[in-house]
Order: sequence, then C-alpha cells, then structure tokens
Amino acid sequence: MSHVKSIGILTSGGDAPGMNAAIRAVTRAGIYAGLKVFGIYRGYRGLIYDEIEEFSTQNVSNIIQRGGTILKTARCKEFQTPEGRQCAYDVLRRHGIDALVVIGGDGSLTGARIFANEFQLPIVGLPGTIDNDLYGTDTTIGYDTALNTIMECVDKIRDTATSHERLFFIEVMGRDAGFLALNGAIASGAEAAIIPEISTQVDQLAELIKHGFRKSKNSSIVLVAESPITGGAMGLAQRVEEEYPGYDVRVSILGHLQRGGSPTAHDRILASRMGSAAIDAILDDQRNVMIGIKNDEIVYVPFTKAIKNDKPINQELMSTLRRLSI
Ligand code: ADP
Repeated sequence: MSHVKSIGILTSGGDAPGMNAAIRAVTRAGIYAGLKVFGIYRGYRGLIYDEIEEFSTQNVSNIIQRGGTILKTARCKEFQTPEGRQCAYDVLRRHGIDALVVIGGDGSLTGARIFANEFQLPIVGLPGTIDNDLYGTDTTIGYDTALNTIMECVDKIRDTATSHERLFFIEVMGRDAGFLALNGAIASGAEAAIIPEISTQVDQLAELIKHGFRKSKNSSIVLVAESPITGGAMGLAQRVEEEYPGYDVRVSILGHLQRGGSPTAHDRILASRMGSAAIDAILDDQRNVMIGIKNDEIVYVPFTKAIKNDKPINQELMSTLRRLSI
C-alpha cells in the first residue's frame, strides 16, 4: 500500500491543448481513490511562491473541452537552483503534499527528475507538449490538436498559393523535432517537409530544388520545422533568393496559434487515460516515471529514458511523403 494521501498537480513550460483534460483526469481519479488533490498554479513558480489550492471535483468541471491550462503555466529560473527547489519542497511539506503529478514537456520533466531525486519525492510525469518530442511514448498530449490546426491552416494557405505560382515555406513549431512538420506535410498534401533530423545529414533545400517541383503543380508548399538547424522558413527563403533566384517565395509562420484551440477527441481521451494512469502509478508506489502510450497501451517510462533519448523520426513517413509528392 502506498503511503501517499495527498497529491499536487501542476502544468509547466509550454502549454498544450489537452492539459485541462489531464488536470481533470488526475483530480477526479485521485479523489475517486480517496486522495486529497491540490492544484498548484503557474508551474514550479507556484510551488515556490505557494500558489496552491485544494481541488474538489467541481474545480475541474466543464474544462475538458478547453484549450490552455486552468492552472496556468510558467517558466521558472529559481527552480533550477538548489535553493529554489528547497523552498518548493518546504511549501509542499507545509501543505502535507506527499507526491506530485507534473504535466509538461522535456524541460519540466527534467526539473521533476532532479526534484524527485533530491528529496525522495514520488513524482509522476505526463507528456504535455505539442512537439511530440518525448521518448518512450508514441504521442503526447496536445500533439494531435496542433497537427489538426496545422492541417487546417495549410489548407487555407493552399487556396491562396494555388492562385499564384509560388513556393510557400510554412514554418511550424517543434523545437528541434520534425514530427509536426512531417506529419503536417503528409496530412495537408504538402510537397515536402524540412526537418532538423534530416537537415543534419543532407541539405534538404538543395535536394528539393535539384529534384525540381512537380511541373503540373502551379504552387509548392513546404513545411519547415522551426529550428536553428533547418534555418526556419525565413532562413530558407533567404537562401532561395540568394542561391536559386527566379522563384517567387512566400513565408508564413504559424506561431502560437498552433498551441491554442479546443483539444481533439484523440487528445482528450489520451489525457484522460494518462491522468488516470498517473494515479495508478502513484498508488503502486512507482516514482520518477512518465506515463506514455505505446501501441494503444499505457506504459511507464523512467524519466531518464524519456528525457535523455532523442525520439527517432519514422523513416516510413519520410518515404511516404516523398512518394506522394511527385
Ligand atoms: P517544457 O516543459 O515545455 O520543455 P521548459 O524547457 O521551459 O518547458 O521547462 C519548464 C520549466 O521546467 C523551467 O522553467 C524550469 O522551471 C524547469 N526546468 C527545466 N529544466 C530544468 C532543470 N535542468 N533543472 C530544474 N528545473 C528545470
């Protein structure tokens, strides 16, 4: 039997659609199991500055469909210092909180791992990030919604792009990971995706120009993952102007709209399952694990694995995109 009687939940780092569904699931599954549940506002910052409130089932009513996070999120430099984390731990002790559920991306789970090891505190992580860049899980909370948003945006851009003979670079988020760009390109029927995982090996722009754009098309849409490695959409457009004059190039940076919106059914279900599994993990005395999903089964991934390893791009997706864009 677990000694945990009381848990805290926080969302940290970049927000992602579906975080609310995850907060709801953790709260409800926790209360169902007889635990006290505390909402911690503004990520690790709220832990240090004691922005904590006990949650009832009503605190999480009517939020499953809402984007963003009702707990707010923040980036907190102080938590990266031992003094900051000591302060956070003291606040937890004062509230009698025995365990934490942290919903966030790579950075937030790195902080969770350090904090858990320092104070022998049970912490379970949920992968909340649109980037899908955490190892050990097929997908992350928010990724599917962001992908659908990208697809809708590219569909709209295509309407205007096809009215002119243009090369469009559309920049999407991903923070050094090409999942949104690659799958967004397949879903929207784009010509190509320029992603950091491949850009380190070959000059993708040169390849694209060398193979030529399909002659029957009167416009070309290329999705670009935002990253210093790809050069981003602006960097690539500049290169085309300098190295391959003659193309009519346009750039569109989708930016923060990719983080917003009501989560898709997929993300709501994923967040609900992962939130329930987080409570199971705590009751099973598991610690330092991230909840993942593999082949539609819940898995428990040690923090060290989830954070340290780079998640590989599926080569079959690259090949599919290449074959379908002839
Ligand atoms: P994300 O979780 O979306 O990757 P960040 O990388 O901004 O977002 O991380 C969110 C927060 O996690 C940071 O502001 C900081 O409070 C905490 N964090 C990140 N890295 C560390 C670390 N090495 N040590 C302690 N805390 C960290």
